[in-house]
Amino acid sequence: MKITNYHSHTYRCKHAQGDALDYVRTAFQGGASVYGISDHSPIPDGRYADVRMALDELDSYEAAVRRAQADFPEIEVLLGMECEYFPEFHAFYEDELLGRRDYDYLIGAGHYTPIEGSWRNSFANMDHPKMLNAYSRHLIEIMETGLYAFIAHPDLFGCSNEFWNEDLTSCSRDILSAAEETRIPLEINGYGMRKEPVQTSNGPRPQYPWPPFWELASEYDIRVVCNSDAHRPQDALASLEETLQLAKQFDLKIADLSHLGSSSRQAVPLVA
Ligand SMILES: [Zn+2]
Ligand SMILES: [Zn+2]
Repeated sequence: MKITNYHSHTYRCKHAQGDALDYVRTAFQGGASVYGISDHSPIPDGRYADVRMALDELDSYEAAVRRAQADFPEIEVLLGMECEYFPEFHAFYEDELLGRRDYDYLIGAGHYTPIEGSWRNSFANMDHPKMLNAYSRHLIEIMETGLYAFIAHPDLFGCSNEFWNEDLTSCSRDILSAAEETRIPLEINGYGMRKEPVQTSNGPRPQYPWPPFWELASEYDIRVVCNSDAHRPQDALASLEETLQLAKQFDLKIADLSHLGSSSRQAVPLVA
């Protein structure tokens, strides 16, 4: 089976290390055939600037990915971005990133959840039905835009709950039905396995991926993407085996993302 990873970062997001070339070098050494760089996208109004690149870093980011493409032609290196979705910036994602700047793909992530007129951090606060409802509604909105190749860590609510419950089942079913309907793959994200575990009275468990979500997923006709979500070059391909194992455990089908990048790099016939 081919080794692929579509989720990795660079120093520009201010909580990761290294640049595109460092990740791609490690991925090459690890035998990867496709490697996507997908740093945290700037938000045009400068919101949440402490955990993402600045707008004026786009050019340097793209140059770093292009350089990695040139230095490692053996790997298909893709230019991606992990984005939030703010409706007022739809044109930025569609016309600027995917359009003018020709990004190969965008990842949709709900790190913040809109509720009662404001945005709340989705890493916390998800132990309440109202918040879970708002989260699933937001992820569904992200899927329905059609801008994103897949949805990052849909089971992020694992960070703020000790045990599974009915509210989580209903939130998950809403997300999974929408993924089935829109045919947007969901990501089994390995980064949660490398973070501090959640301490429960039954012992520690990874923040995410959270197995009960993926067990429910097996009831739906959906596709999954297994990613490392690397924030350090040495983690370029980290946790991929474990995420693939989880997909296998619940008999989940791996998405075919081989179309990404093919539009901008169509084979040019060689003329002798
Ligand atoms: Zn990050
Ligand atoms: Zn990420």
